[in-house]
Amino acid sequence: MGATQKMTIFKLCILAGAALVGTMSVAAQAMTPAQTMLGDAPSVPKNIVIMIGDGMGPAYTSAYRYYKDNPDTQEIEQTVFDRLLVGTSSTYPARVSGYVTDSAAAATALATGVKSYNGAISVDINKQTIPTIMEKAKALGLATGVAVTSQINHATPAAFLSHNESRSNYDALAKSYLTTDTDVMLGGGKKYFPVSLIEKFQAKGYQYLSDFNQLDSIKQGKVIGLFANVQLPWAIDDNDKNKLSKMTAKALELLSQHDKGFVLLIEGSLIDWAGHNNDIVTAMGEMEEFANAIEVVEQYIRNNDNTLMLVTADHNTGGLSIGANGEYSWNTSIIRGVQASPDFIANDALIHDDWLARVSLNLGFEPNEDEASQLARARMQGKEVMTTSIKHLIDSRSNTGWTTGGHTGVDVQVFATGPAASLFAGYQDNTDIANKLISLLPKAKSKSQSNK
Ligand SMILES: [Zn+2]
Repeated sequence: MGATQKMTIFKLCILAGAALVGTMSVAAQAMTPAQTMLGDAPSVPKNIVIMIGDGMGPAYTSAYRYYKDNPDTQEIEQTVFDRLLVGTSSTYPARVSGYVTDSAAAATALATGVKSYNGAISVDINKQTIPTIMEKAKALGLATGVAVTSQINHATPAAFLSHNESRSNYDALAKSYLTTDTDVMLGGGKKYFPVSLIEKFQAKGYQYLSDFNQLDSIKQGKVIGLFANVQLPWAIDDNDKNKLSKMTAKALELLSQHDKGFVLLIEGSLIDWAGHNNDIVTAMGEMEEFANAIEVVEQYIRNNDNTLMLVTADHNTGGLSIGANGEYSWNTSIIRGVQASPDFIANDALIHDDWLARVSLNLGFEPNEDEASQLARARMQGKEVMTTSIKHLIDSRSNTGWTTGGHTGVDVQVFATGPAASLFAGYQDNTDIANKLISLLPKAKSKSQSNK
């Protein structure tokens, strides 16, 4: 344990003592005095990993439990989400946008502790810039990083790294990343980073990766890796289904080399995209890989007890329902049996004459006569109708329900492990999450201390 850390714990002991007499600080609420004084693990984190399952409302984590359940055993096995659950969070945006948030307002709340309007990228309702946890971390000398499955300038990572009055200003957001000094950026988005812009990153010392296979070759330094034109492929259709967990592991490896610690944002971005599509098969594929990425961080924390992991969702997407059509049943064997995304299955069906046999093979079950004639009619109407028809077939066979192609306003769950994880217990607002995380950053040193 370093001298600084000892000093921090000493200060926390004083804080915890003060808490007993009633002046409770946010940091002190996290631990009892006994925990603070006696525990081997540090009480405040050196490193913070924020993980966001975009659109991952409570129905998704429940669905994932049953999707992963081994039907050959009596018990229903716990998932990583069950293991790490600590609390819940409301997600509503600023008053002007009502009760149902979009990803931009939610990410602004999670990155800054301030609510804003839907579409805002870390600006307030008056379009004034609000400092983010990443900027505060940078100012304190910490390293920062993002690893996501969407384009890296999509709403969630953008609100942690940048500012803009609109999430749709993708080109401006991409350009703005040049001045953020972010150490690690991994995900999709080549479309928004032309060669001229990439050259500017390289001039600033960044290594540029355009191919996922290059990821292993990076051992240190700053990196920007763009592995798709826009978003990464659906995990279920990808030959490499573990891209998010590999990016997570690489980001941890690179950022760990910084003595002062780091703040890292990981997003399972495409859970939301599958939710918007009302596509249960693809959503479960994305959930599985997000869960894998969480387990990568969990393992890292087992070896580095100075690291806090905070996992949550920014909102719920699609109004997913486990059970539908008045049936008390959710048939996961149907969902588990599907071999590819409905997108893929529809494309494949459109270009082959023996399409019904191929659809049956891809679905893992044989459509009955009615279902087959519905699919045949849909196939005549092209890709989009065919995809929808396949999704409807999977939904009706499995009793999966959806209420919207957009977001819903239910509270989301909060999961945490590592130092100060208990700070996130119980109900909180999404802005509280940000304020607690910000309170855990090291305090700026006074002049006399920094001269040491
Ligand atoms: Zn979102």
